[in-house]
Amino acid sequence: MNEPYDAIVVGARCAGSPVAMLLARRGHRVLVVDRTALPADTVSTHYLQQYGLARLQAWGLLDEVRATGAPPITSMTISYDDAVICGFADPIDGITATLAPRRTALDPVLLRAAEAAGAEVRLGVALRDLIVEDGVVRGVRLQSADGELVEERARVVIGADGARSRVAEAVGAGTYDVVEPSCFIYYSYWTGVPDTGFHSRIGLNQQQVGLWPTNDDRTMVAVMRTRDRYPEFRRDVERNFHEVCEQVVPDLAEQVRAGEQVERFIGIRYPDNYYRVSAGPGWALVGDAGYHKDPFTGKGMSDAFTHAELLAEKIAQGLAGRPMGDALTEYTMTRDAETQGAYRFTTMISDLALTPELQGLFRAVSGNDPATRQFLSMVGGGISGEDFFAPANIGTIMAAA
Ligand SMILES: Cc1cc2nc3c(=O)[nH]c(=O)nc-3n(C[C@H](O)[C@H](O)[C@H](O)COP(=O)(O)OP(=O)(O)OC[C@H]3O[C@@H](n4cnc5c(N)ncnc54)[C@H](O)[C@@H]3O)c2cc1C
Repeated sequence: MNEPYDAIVVGARCAGSPVAMLLARRGHRVLVVDRTALPADTVSTHYLQQYGLARLQAWGLLDEVRATGAPPITSMTISYDDAVICGFADPIDGITATLAPRRTALDPVLLRAAEAAGAEVRLGVALRDLIVEDGVVRGVRLQSADGELVEERARVVIGADGARSRVAEAVGAGTYDVVEPSCFIYYSYWTGVPDTGFHSRIGLNQQQVGLWPTNDDRTMVAVMRTRDRYPEFRRDVERNFHEVCEQVVPDLAEQVRAGEQVERFIGIRYPDNYYRVSAGPGWALVGDAGYHKDPFTGKGMSDAFTHAELLAEKIAQGLAGRPMGDALTEYTMTRDAETQGAYRFTTMISDLALTPELQGLFRAVSGNDPATRQFLSMVGGGISGEDFFAPANIGTIMAAA
Protein backbone atom coordinates (compact mmCIF):
# COMPACT_ATOMS: atom_id res chain seq x y z
CA MET A 1 0.00 0.00 0.00
CA ASN A 2 1.21 3.52 -0.84
CA GLU A 3 2.23 5.79 2.03
CA PRO A 4 -0.71 8.10 2.95
CA TYR A 5 -0.61 11.73 1.89
CA ASP A 6 -1.29 14.54 4.33
CA ALA A 7 -3.91 15.87 1.92
CA ILE A 8 -5.47 14.85 -1.39
CA VAL A 9 -7.07 17.68 -3.37
CA VAL A 10 -9.66 16.86 -6.02
CA GLY A 11 -9.83 19.66 -8.63
CA ALA A 12 -6.89 21.80 -9.73
CA ARG A 13 -8.21 25.22 -10.65
CA CYS A 14 -8.90 28.40 -8.58
CA ALA A 15 -9.59 26.60 -5.31
CA GLY A 16 -7.66 23.34 -5.65
CA SER A 17 -4.25 24.48 -6.87
CA PRO A 18 -3.85 27.23 -4.22
CA VAL A 19 -4.83 24.95 -1.32
CA ALA A 20 -2.40 22.30 -2.62
CA MET A 21 0.33 24.93 -3.07
CA LEU A 22 -0.13 26.45 0.39
CA LEU A 23 -0.08 23.07 2.14
CA ALA A 24 2.93 21.90 0.12
CA ARG A 25 4.77 25.14 0.91
CA ARG A 26 4.32 24.28 4.59
CA GLY A 27 6.11 20.99 3.91
CA HIS A 28 3.04 18.75 3.77
CA ARG A 29 2.76 15.81 1.40
CA VAL A 30 0.01 16.68 -1.06
CA LEU A 31 -1.55 15.02 -4.10
CA VAL A 32 -3.73 17.13 -6.41
CA VAL A 33 -5.76 15.48 -9.18
CA ASP A 34 -8.04 16.78 -11.91
CA ARG A 35 -10.08 14.76 -14.36
CA THR A 36 -9.38 17.41 -17.04
CA ALA A 37 -6.08 17.38 -18.92
CA LEU A 38 -5.30 20.97 -17.94
CA PRO A 39 -4.67 23.58 -19.29
CA ALA A 40 -8.18 23.82 -20.66
CA ASP A 41 -10.80 26.53 -20.78
CA THR A 42 -13.85 26.44 -18.54
CA VAL A 43 -17.11 28.38 -18.43
CA SER A 44 -16.18 31.62 -16.67
CA THR A 45 -15.87 35.29 -17.58
CA HIS A 46 -12.79 35.38 -15.33
CA TYR A 47 -12.77 38.91 -13.84
CA LEU A 48 -10.56 39.09 -10.74
CA GLN A 49 -11.40 41.53 -7.97
CA GLN A 50 -8.73 43.51 -6.11
CA TYR A 51 -8.99 41.23 -3.07
CA GLY A 52 -8.40 38.17 -5.27
CA LEU A 53 -5.39 39.79 -6.90
CA ALA A 54 -4.10 40.62 -3.41
CA ARG A 55 -4.02 36.89 -2.64
CA LEU A 56 -2.02 36.23 -5.85
CA GLN A 57 0.35 39.01 -4.81
CA ALA A 58 0.77 37.55 -1.32
CA TRP A 59 1.60 34.16 -2.85
CA GLY A 60 4.18 35.71 -5.22
CA LEU A 61 2.17 34.83 -8.34
CA LEU A 62 0.79 38.19 -9.45
CA ASP A 63 3.70 39.11 -11.74
CA GLU A 64 3.42 35.76 -13.51
CA VAL A 65 -0.31 36.28 -14.04
CA ARG A 66 0.30 39.83 -15.32
CA ALA A 67 2.97 38.46 -17.67
CA THR A 68 0.33 36.34 -19.42
CA GLY A 69 -0.70 39.60 -21.11
CA ALA A 70 -4.11 40.27 -19.55
CA PRO A 71 -4.27 44.09 -19.66
CA PRO A 72 -4.57 46.07 -16.41
CA ILE A 73 -8.05 47.51 -15.80
CA THR A 74 -8.13 50.90 -14.07
CA SER A 75 -11.62 52.11 -14.87
CA MET A 76 -14.92 50.58 -13.79
CA THR A 77 -18.36 51.56 -15.02
CA ILE A 78 -21.32 50.06 -13.22
CA SER A 79 -24.74 51.34 -14.16
CA TYR A 80 -28.42 50.81 -13.67
CA ASP A 81 -30.44 52.46 -16.43
CA ASP A 82 -29.29 56.13 -16.48
CA ALA A 83 -27.49 56.04 -13.10
CA VAL A 84 -23.84 55.52 -13.99
CA ILE A 85 -21.13 54.88 -11.39
CA CYS A 86 -17.72 55.37 -12.96
CA GLY A 87 -14.28 55.42 -11.37
CA PHE A 88 -11.95 53.06 -9.55
CA ALA A 89 -11.58 51.94 -5.96
CA ASP A 90 -8.76 53.13 -3.73
CA PRO A 91 -5.86 50.64 -3.62
CA ILE A 92 -6.58 47.42 -1.74
CA ASP A 93 -3.38 45.89 -0.33
CA GLY A 94 -1.52 47.98 -2.93
CA ILE A 95 -3.58 46.63 -5.84
CA THR A 96 -4.32 49.60 -8.11
CA ALA A 97 -5.57 47.73 -11.21
CA THR A 98 -7.63 44.63 -11.78
CA LEU A 99 -7.23 41.86 -14.38
CA ALA A 100 -9.46 39.41 -16.21
CA PRO A 101 -7.02 36.70 -17.33
CA ARG A 102 -8.37 33.83 -19.43
CA ARG A 103 -8.63 30.64 -17.45
CA THR A 104 -6.22 29.05 -19.93
CA ALA A 105 -3.71 31.67 -18.74
CA LEU A 106 -4.49 31.85 -15.00
CA ASP A 107 -5.12 28.23 -14.04
CA PRO A 108 -1.74 26.96 -15.33
CA VAL A 109 0.06 29.59 -13.20
CA LEU A 110 -1.76 28.28 -10.14
CA LEU A 111 -1.10 24.65 -10.99
CA ARG A 112 2.59 25.22 -11.74
CA ALA A 113 2.92 26.98 -8.37
CA ALA A 114 1.39 23.97 -6.61
CA GLU A 115 3.81 21.65 -8.41
CA ALA A 116 6.79 23.93 -7.74
CA ALA A 117 5.88 23.89 -4.04
CA GLY A 118 6.19 20.09 -4.07
CA ALA A 119 2.60 18.93 -4.60
CA GLU A 120 2.28 15.82 -6.75
CA VAL A 121 -0.01 16.53 -9.72
CA ARG A 122 -2.01 13.95 -11.67
CA LEU A 123 -4.15 15.18 -14.57
CA GLY A 124 -6.75 13.27 -16.55
CA VAL A 125 -7.50 11.40 -13.32
CA ALA A 126 -11.06 11.40 -11.95
CA LEU A 127 -12.28 10.81 -8.44
CA ARG A 128 -14.67 7.85 -8.59
CA ASP A 129 -15.29 7.31 -4.90
CA LEU A 130 -14.05 7.98 -1.41
CA ILE A 131 -12.58 5.40 0.94
CA VAL A 132 -14.67 5.71 4.10
CA GLU A 133 -13.95 3.68 7.24
CA ASP A 134 -16.08 3.97 10.40
CA GLY A 135 -17.62 7.17 9.04
CA VAL A 136 -14.25 8.82 8.42
CA VAL A 137 -12.95 9.64 4.93
CA ARG A 138 -9.55 7.97 4.62
CA GLY A 139 -8.75 8.35 0.94
CA VAL A 140 -9.87 8.24 -2.69
CA ARG A 141 -10.49 5.81 -5.52
CA LEU A 142 -9.15 7.37 -8.70
CA GLN A 143 -9.57 6.42 -12.33
CA SER A 144 -7.10 7.45 -15.00
CA ALA A 145 -8.01 8.09 -18.65
CA ASP A 146 -7.04 4.53 -19.61
CA GLY A 147 -9.50 3.18 -17.02
CA GLU A 148 -6.93 2.11 -14.42
CA LEU A 149 -8.23 2.36 -10.83
CA VAL A 150 -5.95 3.26 -7.94
CA GLU A 151 -6.51 3.92 -4.26
CA GLU A 152 -4.66 6.64 -2.36
CA ARG A 153 -4.99 7.49 1.32
CA ALA A 154 -4.70 10.80 3.15
CA ARG A 155 -5.37 12.51 6.50
CA VAL A 156 -7.81 14.79 4.72
CA VAL A 157 -9.51 14.79 1.30
CA ILE A 158 -10.39 18.20 -0.10
CA GLY A 159 -13.15 18.62 -2.69
CA ALA A 160 -12.18 21.56 -4.89
CA ASP A 161 -14.15 19.97 -7.69
CA GLY A 162 -16.64 22.68 -8.53
CA ALA A 163 -20.39 23.11 -8.22
CA ARG A 164 -21.17 19.49 -9.15
CA SER A 165 -18.69 18.22 -6.59
CA ARG A 166 -18.26 14.46 -6.55
CA VAL A 167 -16.68 14.72 -3.08
CA ALA A 168 -19.80 16.51 -1.80
CA GLU A 169 -22.01 13.88 -3.39
CA ALA A 170 -19.99 11.00 -1.92
CA VAL A 171 -20.14 12.36 1.63
CA GLY A 172 -23.79 13.46 1.22
CA ALA A 173 -23.03 17.12 2.02
CA GLY A 174 -26.31 19.04 2.18
CA THR A 175 -26.89 22.59 1.01
CA TYR A 176 -28.31 25.51 3.00
CA ASP A 177 -29.41 29.12 2.36
CA VAL A 178 -30.26 28.01 -1.17
CA VAL A 179 -31.56 30.73 -3.48
CA GLU A 180 -32.92 29.85 -6.91
CA PRO A 181 -30.90 31.32 -9.77
CA SER A 182 -32.40 34.20 -11.74
CA CYS A 183 -30.46 34.43 -14.95
CA PHE A 184 -28.70 32.87 -17.91
CA ILE A 185 -25.63 34.18 -19.71
CA TYR A 186 -24.24 34.15 -23.23
CA TYR A 187 -20.72 35.42 -23.82
CA SER A 188 -17.97 35.44 -26.41
CA TYR A 189 -14.77 37.25 -27.41
CA TRP A 190 -14.11 40.04 -29.91
CA THR A 191 -10.98 41.64 -31.33
CA GLY A 192 -10.82 45.23 -32.53
CA VAL A 193 -12.86 46.65 -29.62
CA PRO A 194 -11.21 49.66 -27.91
CA ASP A 195 -10.20 49.07 -24.27
CA THR A 196 -12.74 50.99 -22.17
CA GLY A 197 -12.08 49.11 -18.93
CA PHE A 198 -14.65 47.15 -16.97
CA HIS A 199 -18.38 47.55 -17.64
CA SER A 200 -21.26 45.97 -15.78
CA ARG A 201 -24.37 47.66 -17.11
CA ILE A 202 -27.97 46.86 -16.24
CA GLY A 203 -30.72 48.14 -18.48
CA LEU A 204 -34.46 48.24 -18.07
CA ASN A 205 -36.41 45.00 -18.55
CA GLN A 206 -33.91 42.94 -16.56
CA GLN A 207 -31.07 42.75 -19.03
CA GLN A 208 -27.36 43.21 -18.43
CA VAL A 209 -24.18 43.58 -20.45
CA GLY A 210 -20.69 42.85 -19.11
CA LEU A 211 -17.59 43.82 -21.06
CA TRP A 212 -13.88 43.80 -20.19
CA PRO A 213 -10.50 43.29 -21.87
CA THR A 214 -8.56 40.03 -21.58
CA ASN A 215 -5.54 38.25 -23.06
CA ASP A 216 -4.59 38.30 -26.75
CA ASP A 217 -6.19 41.75 -27.37
CA ARG A 218 -9.61 40.17 -26.97
CA THR A 219 -12.62 41.68 -25.27
CA MET A 220 -15.04 39.48 -23.34
CA VAL A 221 -18.63 40.56 -23.94
CA ALA A 222 -21.49 38.95 -22.01
CA VAL A 223 -25.25 39.33 -22.01
CA MET A 224 -27.35 38.24 -19.04
CA ARG A 225 -31.13 37.95 -18.93
CA THR A 226 -33.69 36.32 -16.67
CA ARG A 227 -34.25 32.61 -17.18
CA ASP A 228 -37.81 32.98 -18.47
CA ARG A 229 -36.27 34.58 -21.61
CA TYR A 230 -33.92 31.66 -22.24
CA PRO A 231 -35.98 29.63 -24.76
CA GLU A 232 -36.71 32.73 -26.83
CA PHE A 233 -33.10 34.03 -26.63
CA ARG A 234 -31.44 30.81 -27.74
CA ARG A 235 -33.59 30.61 -30.88
CA ASP A 236 -31.35 33.33 -32.40
CA VAL A 237 -28.44 33.99 -30.06
CA GLU A 238 -26.50 36.35 -32.32
CA ARG A 239 -29.42 38.65 -33.10
CA ASN A 240 -30.69 38.69 -29.51
CA PHE A 241 -27.19 39.23 -28.10
CA HIS A 242 -26.56 42.34 -30.18
CA GLU A 243 -30.09 43.60 -29.60
CA VAL A 244 -29.56 43.55 -25.82
CA CYS A 245 -26.19 45.31 -26.25
CA GLU A 246 -27.86 48.02 -28.34
CA GLN A 247 -30.60 48.55 -25.77
CA VAL A 248 -28.36 48.56 -22.69
CA VAL A 249 -25.10 50.12 -23.96
CA PRO A 250 -25.64 51.64 -27.42
CA ASP A 251 -22.15 53.23 -27.50
CA LEU A 252 -20.35 49.98 -26.65
CA ALA A 253 -22.66 47.96 -28.92
CA GLU A 254 -21.43 49.93 -31.92
CA GLN A 255 -17.80 49.19 -31.00
CA VAL A 256 -18.56 45.49 -30.59
CA ARG A 257 -20.35 45.37 -33.95
CA ALA A 258 -17.33 47.04 -35.58
CA GLY A 259 -15.00 44.41 -34.08
CA GLU A 260 -14.63 40.76 -35.06
CA GLN A 261 -16.13 37.93 -33.04
CA VAL A 262 -13.33 35.36 -32.81
CA GLU A 263 -14.85 32.63 -30.64
CA ARG A 264 -18.20 30.88 -30.50
CA PHE A 265 -20.91 31.90 -28.04
CA ILE A 266 -20.97 30.08 -24.71
CA GLY A 267 -24.33 30.04 -22.95
CA ILE A 268 -25.56 28.53 -19.69
CA ARG A 269 -28.37 28.88 -17.21
CA TYR A 270 -26.82 29.57 -13.82
CA PRO A 271 -27.01 26.86 -11.16
CA ASP A 272 -28.50 27.52 -7.69
CA ASN A 273 -26.92 29.88 -5.20
CA TYR A 274 -25.99 27.83 -2.10
CA TYR A 275 -23.75 27.09 0.79
CA ARG A 276 -22.86 23.43 1.31
CA VAL A 277 -21.87 21.76 4.55
CA SER A 278 -18.14 21.95 3.88
CA ALA A 279 -16.37 19.83 6.45
CA GLY A 280 -16.71 16.48 8.17
CA PRO A 281 -14.49 13.66 9.43
CA GLY A 282 -11.53 13.51 7.05
CA TRP A 283 -12.94 15.83 4.38
CA ALA A 284 -13.53 19.45 3.41
CA LEU A 285 -14.93 21.40 0.47
CA VAL A 286 -13.55 24.64 -0.98
CA GLY A 287 -14.41 26.95 -3.87
CA ASP A 288 -17.67 26.41 -5.76
CA ALA A 289 -17.92 22.91 -4.26
CA GLY A 290 -18.78 24.49 -0.90
CA TYR A 291 -20.17 27.92 -1.71
CA HIS A 292 -21.63 29.11 -4.98
CA LYS A 293 -23.36 32.30 -6.02
CA ASP A 294 -24.47 34.07 -9.17
CA PRO A 295 -21.42 35.45 -11.03
CA PHE A 296 -23.13 38.89 -11.01
CA THR A 297 -20.73 40.23 -8.36
CA GLY A 298 -17.67 38.52 -9.90
CA LYS A 299 -16.46 36.96 -6.67
CA GLY A 300 -16.24 33.22 -7.39
CA MET A 301 -12.55 33.05 -8.26
CA SER A 302 -11.43 35.62 -5.69
CA ASP A 303 -13.44 33.84 -2.99
CA ALA A 304 -11.91 30.52 -4.07
CA PHE A 305 -8.44 32.01 -3.44
CA THR A 306 -9.45 33.50 -0.08
CA HIS A 307 -11.05 30.28 1.15
CA ALA A 308 -8.23 28.09 -0.17
CA GLU A 309 -5.87 30.12 2.02
CA LEU A 310 -8.18 29.88 5.02
CA LEU A 311 -8.63 26.14 4.58
CA ALA A 312 -4.90 25.50 4.13
CA GLU A 313 -4.21 27.37 7.38
CA LYS A 314 -6.82 25.36 9.31
CA ILE A 315 -5.71 22.00 7.85
CA ALA A 316 -2.10 22.86 8.70
CA GLN A 317 -3.22 23.44 12.30
CA GLY A 318 -4.98 20.05 12.24
CA LEU A 319 -1.90 18.32 10.83
CA ALA A 320 0.19 20.00 13.55
CA GLY A 321 -1.87 18.46 16.35
CA ARG A 322 -5.01 20.56 16.82
CA PRO A 323 -8.12 18.35 16.58
CA MET A 324 -8.79 18.40 12.82
CA GLY A 325 -12.57 18.54 13.37
CA ASP A 326 -12.23 21.79 15.38
CA ALA A 327 -9.95 23.32 12.76
CA LEU A 328 -12.31 22.43 9.90
CA THR A 329 -15.38 23.68 11.77
CA GLU A 330 -13.62 27.00 12.27
CA TYR A 331 -12.90 27.11 8.54
CA THR A 332 -16.57 26.78 7.59
CA MET A 333 -17.78 29.16 10.29
CA THR A 334 -15.29 31.85 9.27
CA ARG A 335 -16.10 31.41 5.58
CA ASP A 336 -19.83 31.71 6.20
CA ALA A 337 -19.54 34.69 8.54
CA GLU A 338 -17.28 36.59 6.16
CA THR A 339 -19.43 35.99 3.07
CA GLN A 340 -22.99 36.40 4.40
CA GLY A 341 -23.28 40.09 3.47
CA ALA A 342 -21.93 39.63 -0.05
CA TYR A 343 -24.11 36.55 -0.56
CA ARG A 344 -27.24 38.44 0.46
CA PHE A 345 -26.33 41.39 -1.78
CA THR A 346 -25.54 39.11 -4.75
CA THR A 347 -28.75 37.14 -4.51
CA MET A 348 -30.77 40.32 -3.97
CA ILE A 349 -29.43 42.13 -7.03
CA SER A 350 -28.88 39.24 -9.44
CA ASP A 351 -32.39 39.24 -10.91
CA LEU A 352 -31.36 42.54 -12.54
CA ALA A 353 -34.36 44.39 -11.09
CA LEU A 354 -33.24 46.83 -8.43
CA THR A 355 -35.54 47.73 -5.56
CA PRO A 356 -36.58 51.42 -5.49
CA GLU A 357 -34.20 51.89 -2.53
CA LEU A 358 -31.24 50.47 -4.47
CA GLN A 359 -32.17 52.51 -7.55
CA GLY A 360 -32.16 55.63 -5.36
CA LEU A 361 -28.79 54.63 -3.93
CA PHE A 362 -27.30 54.07 -7.40
CA ARG A 363 -28.43 57.57 -8.39
CA ALA A 364 -27.01 59.06 -5.20
CA VAL A 365 -23.64 57.32 -5.63
CA SER A 366 -23.23 58.31 -9.29
CA GLY A 367 -21.52 61.67 -9.52
CA ASN A 368 -20.48 61.59 -5.84
CA ASP A 369 -16.75 60.91 -5.98
CA PRO A 370 -16.07 59.70 -2.40
CA ALA A 371 -19.24 57.54 -2.49
CA THR A 372 -18.20 56.12 -5.89
CA ARG A 373 -14.77 55.14 -4.54
CA GLN A 374 -16.40 53.61 -1.48
CA PHE A 375 -18.94 51.66 -3.59
CA LEU A 376 -16.20 50.37 -5.90
CA SER A 377 -14.10 49.50 -2.87
CA MET A 378 -16.99 47.33 -1.65
CA VAL A 379 -17.09 45.66 -5.08
CA GLY A 380 -13.31 45.12 -4.99
CA GLY A 381 -13.33 43.72 -1.45
CA GLY A 382 -11.76 46.69 0.36
CA ILE A 383 -14.73 47.32 2.64
CA SER A 384 -17.52 44.98 3.61
CA GLY A 385 -21.10 45.18 2.37
CA GLU A 386 -22.13 45.58 6.02
CA ASP A 387 -19.98 48.74 6.32
CA PHE A 388 -21.13 50.19 3.01
CA PHE A 389 -24.82 49.52 3.69
CA ALA A 390 -24.64 50.66 7.34
CA PRO A 391 -27.58 53.06 7.90
CA ALA A 392 -25.27 55.94 8.89
CA ASN A 393 -23.20 55.55 5.71
CA ILE A 394 -26.23 55.29 3.44
CA GLY A 395 -27.70 58.31 5.23
CA THR A 396 -24.58 60.38 4.46
CA ILE A 397 -24.62 59.36 0.78
CA MET A 398 -28.35 60.05 0.38
CA ALA A 399 -28.09 63.41 2.18
CA ALA A 400 -25.41 64.55 -0.27
CA ALA A 401 -27.53 63.61 -3.30
C1 LIG B 1 -20.71 32.05 -16.74
C2 LIG B 1 -19.84 32.23 -15.55
C3 LIG B 1 -19.11 33.39 -15.41
C4 LIG B 1 -18.30 33.59 -14.30
N1 LIG B 1 -17.58 34.74 -14.21
C5 LIG B 1 -16.80 34.95 -13.14
C6 LIG B 1 -16.02 36.15 -13.03
O1 LIG B 1 -16.04 37.01 -13.91
N2 LIG B 1 -15.25 36.30 -11.91
C7 LIG B 1 -15.22 35.36 -10.93
O2 LIG B 1 -14.51 35.55 -9.94
N3 LIG B 1 -15.93 34.22 -11.01
C8 LIG B 1 -16.70 33.99 -12.09
N4 LIG B 1 -17.40 32.83 -12.19
C9 LIG B 1 -17.29 31.84 -11.12
C10 LIG B 1 -15.96 31.10 -11.20
O3 LIG B 1 -15.76 30.61 -12.50
C11 LIG B 1 -15.95 29.97 -10.17
O4 LIG B 1 -16.31 30.51 -8.92
C12 LIG B 1 -14.57 29.34 -10.05
O5 LIG B 1 -14.21 28.74 -11.28
C13 LIG B 1 -14.58 28.29 -8.95
O6 LIG B 1 -13.33 27.64 -8.95
P1 LIG B 1 -13.21 26.17 -8.38
O7 LIG B 1 -11.75 25.85 -8.42
O8 LIG B 1 -13.94 26.07 -7.10
O9 LIG B 1 -14.03 25.23 -9.38
P2 LIG B 1 -13.88 24.97 -10.93
O10 LIG B 1 -13.25 26.13 -11.62
O11 LIG B 1 -15.22 24.53 -11.37
O12 LIG B 1 -12.85 23.76 -11.03
C14 LIG B 1 -13.20 22.47 -10.59
C15 LIG B 1 -12.21 21.46 -11.16
O13 LIG B 1 -12.54 20.19 -10.58
C16 LIG B 1 -12.37 19.19 -11.57
N5 LIG B 1 -13.22 18.05 -11.22
C17 LIG B 1 -14.58 18.01 -11.12
N6 LIG B 1 -14.99 16.78 -10.79
C18 LIG B 1 -13.87 16.01 -10.67
C19 LIG B 1 -13.66 14.64 -10.36
N7 LIG B 1 -14.67 13.78 -10.09
N8 LIG B 1 -12.38 14.17 -10.35
C20 LIG B 1 -11.34 15.02 -10.61
N9 LIG B 1 -11.50 16.32 -10.93
C21 LIG B 1 -12.74 16.81 -10.95
C22 LIG B 1 -12.82 19.87 -12.87
O14 LIG B 1 -12.24 19.22 -14.00
C23 LIG B 1 -12.30 21.29 -12.67
O15 LIG B 1 -11.03 21.48 -13.27
C24 LIG B 1 -18.21 32.59 -13.30
C25 LIG B 1 -18.93 31.40 -13.44
C26 LIG B 1 -19.73 31.22 -14.55
C27 LIG B 1 -20.49 29.93 -14.69
